[in-house]
Amino acid sequence: MGSSLFPIYGEGPGPLVNGLGTTPRITSLLIKPASAVCNLDCAYCFYLDREADPYKALPGRRMTVDTLERLVDTYLFYSYPNSVFAFQGGEPTLAGLPFFEKLVEFQQQFGRDGQNVSNALQTNAILLDDNWCQLFHSYNWLLGVSIDGPEEMHDLYRFNKAGAGTWRKVMNAIERLQRNKVEFNVLCVLSQANVEKPKEVYNFFRRLGIDNMQFIPLAEFDAEGNRLPFTITPEQYGRFLVEVFELWWPERRKCRIRFFDNVAEAVAGQKPGSCTMHETCDSYVVVEYNGDIFPCDFFVEKEWKLGNITIDSWTEIARRQRRYSFASKKTLAHPECQVCEYASICHGGCPKFRHGRHHDFNELDYFCASYKTVFGRIVGPLREEVRKLMGQQAAMAASSALNPY
Ligand code: SF4
Ligand code: SF4
Repeated sequence: MGSSLFPIYGEGPGPLVNGLGTTPRITSLLIKPASAVCNLDCAYCFYLDREADPYKALPGRRMTVDTLERLVDTYLFYSYPNSVFAFQGGEPTLAGLPFFEKLVEFQQQFGRDGQNVSNALQTNAILLDDNWCQLFHSYNWLLGVSIDGPEEMHDLYRFNKAGAGTWRKVMNAIERLQRNKVEFNVLCVLSQANVEKPKEVYNFFRRLGIDNMQFIPLAEFDAEGNRLPFTITPEQYGRFLVEVFELWWPERRKCRIRFFDNVAEAVAGQKPGSCTMHETCDSYVVVEYNGDIFPCDFFVEKEWKLGNITIDSWTEIARRQRRYSFASKKTLAHPECQVCEYASICHGGCPKFRHGRHHDFNELDYFCASYKTVFGRIVGPLREEVRKLMGQQAAMAASSALNPY
């Protein structure tokens, strides 16, 4: 299942000013070395057999070493001094361990003094063995592992190609990651399998020792705009997050929940880690296996192609008119957003959830009612918490200014 896990970390080095005005930097890459190809067959996956997939007729989609070399070389140059490479799919580990070893080799070869390079990978964890773990541990990769909770919830929709559940294999991989001290968080898709069981899901992850979680709401529709059976309702999503918030709040310093982190960042006046709470959709781009570039993982479609890294420079790609026009989809303010007290946090939600039902970017985000419920419960306490923490920081800064030793 795809998600906005890696879009994306923090802010880039700031805008580039050119003859056309201000061009937002591409602050990170979401790379699909095996395109949308996957070794599993999850019932709810939006990537599998997608009509609009520009490569769906092509077998054996894998990024070549030549494309990888060009990607690393040019992007390290463009993004200096902070370069973020995030890998996703389909299943990115299908590209094979030697591909990722080569990646690290190229990063070492082309990186410059003082350059910060981070690598992240979202995986179903089926192929991970100790050799993979060694690479991740040695170079401080951050992994996102897809698991939907306890066995009966996970195995309801997450099958292998033979139709069998995958929970046991994922659990083995999680134990392996923990043994090898690889940093990871869990990506839990919220479907009809688990959305009514927030306590069971949260406690299950906590008992496993997981202290970093992301919940990804499922919203897929048929051609008439009707919810598919696993799709959750806005009310269910809102209730789930509020109940998880109550469980999480007493141990908020020990555990991270991405949605709550993002809201805290927004109320602190920072740019949230997740693109869904940005003002426009232009922080990251997707790199397909053949070097094609798209503005968002949910819109890998011919009409949104921005260029190709084997032909275009990053600066040219960043300036493409199509990038501006995609970015501006988020700024089409729905009348309800114009008068919404949470607009400065939410910015109208995610265009995927506006467009998903009737292919119309002008609609209200499908999960708007969830956001309002959740913001209504969490913004007050988070604002207070941020105020306390920032007050402490200011007090510490003042005392160290008084006594720098
Ligand atoms: S449509 Fe925009 S907000 Fe939604 S995932 Fe894509 S870039 Fe992020
Ligand atoms: S909560 Fe709803 S109305 Fe408010 S900004 Fe978000 S999508 Fe718009």
